[in-house]
Amino acid sequence: MAFESLSERLSTIFQGLSGKGKLSEDDVNLALKEVRMALLEADVNFKLVKDFVAKVKEKAIGEEVFSSLSPAQTVIKIVKDELTAMMGEENTELKLRPQSEITVLMMVGLQGAGKTTTAAKLAGKFQKMHRKPLLVACDIYRPAAIEQLRVNAEKLSIPFFSLGNQVKPEEIAKRAYEEAKEKGYNLLILDTAGRLQIDDALMQELKRMKAAVPVDWTILTVDAMTGQEAVNVSQSFSEDIGVDGVILTKCDGDTRGGAALSIKAMTGQPILFLGMGEKLADLEPFYPDRMAGRILG
Ligand code: GDP
Repeated sequence: MAFESLSERLSTIFQGLSGKGKLSEDDVNLALKEVRMALLEADVNFKLVKDFVAKVKEKAIGEEVFSSLSPAQTVIKIVKDELTAMMGEENTELKLRPQSEITVLMMVGLQGAGKTTTAAKLAGKFQKMHRKPLLVACDIYRPAAIEQLRVNAEKLSIPFFSLGNQVKPEEIAKRAYEEAKEKGYNLLILDTAGRLQIDDALMQELKRMKAAVPVDWTILTVDAMTGQEAVNVSQSFSEDIGVDGVILTKCDGDTRGGAALSIKAMTGQPILFLGMGEKLADLEPFYPDRMAGRILG
């Protein structure tokens, strides 16, 4: 499971507290010190960790855990609530326009983050909900990307649109939108190019695409395994082109959890889904409270 080591660390800390029965302020301080270490080791942003511990401490004192019947449980509940708050409280649903209108999703992110795979995963998910998706290949620089999207579209029996690699991405997007109008597709999913690093040419291209078609959701895919780097990438894309939601991929791997915990608080962008594997069905909605529960074991 993802976030295993963070989860193990926290449950060990809280087991220690539970064993004590009555708690002193020192007990709580000591436990919070360890919570702080565990979060930093999980690669949660330093400032967030600081604020988090301060809030938990303030609440713990306010709620008089020292005189409560089950002090450890009270501390755990406060920690869970604060973890949930850090991740954004509620699930943000990827809402689509009514069936009679075309919703446009634009997938963005660095190369290798999982854009192409996630584009197909989303198409599959919404097809099951009786939408009519069209997967559009706008990554004209990496020939394999077009082929990869085509193969995935075929696996899901989802229509696929490409104009090869000689037409500009914004033109491809426009023509795909026309195609959707003509043929009655109501969910356009644009797979865009990525780079190894953020560069200006990429951002300009994405801006031109956004100007060419009415994008409803700009969806950033970031690799959870990259921790704080995923947060930095989210900040850059948000500032440069505007992002409406994040999909955190590779959460099935040995990720430490820092990205999932930090992205919302650091960038204001909600996490919409978690990528949980290479297969096209491996996409889970993101629920902050469930995630906090999972982390606390
Ligand atoms: P792109 O360059 O951003 O389009 O990235 P791709 O979609 O080509 O994905 C890069 C690699 O990551 C591929 O090998 C995918 O199978 C893999 N991948 C994507 N999402 C996930 C995920 O949620 N979990 C795992 N384990 N692998 C993933």
